[in-house]
Amino acid sequence: MSCLFCRILQGEIPSRAVYSDERCYAFADIQPQAPVHLLIIPRQHIDSLANVTATDVELLGYLTAKAAELARELSLDHGYRVVINTGDDGGQTVHHLHLHLLGGRSLKWPPG
Ligand code: AMP
Ligand code: ZN
Repeated sequence: MSCLFCRILQGEIPSRAVYSDERCYAFADIQPQAPVHLLIIPRQHIDSLANVTATDVELLGYLTAKAAELARELSLDHGYRVVINTGDDGGQTVHHLHLHLLGGRSLKWPPG
């Protein structure tokens, strides 16, 4: 299995778990860009947001709601950012769909 995040899901590569259920897994980003920087991934392998279809709508909603739930649990009361980097121009480096949850500091816009 070559996908990095599938290997993390299988426990072949260690990660710092924050949340886990039958549909998704959330863990600490190895190179945090903010005091809170989590990755939320589906257990199902989907390459990219670019490949999402109507059958994935419910899963996408689930992952987004989970990001909000984790943000509440982590008391990110001043706000946060949820990002899905997509494709080369979007800065996507791992080709397994993932939501970044960033918070704990004031984030700049535009991201550059
Ligand atoms: P993206 O650039 O949007 O594809 O995000 C990929 C993210 O995965 C980056 O923020 C990396 O720091 C993170 N990352 C890469 N390898 C690992 C790993 N082994 N454990 C946790 N996060 C990782
Ligand atoms: Zn994968």
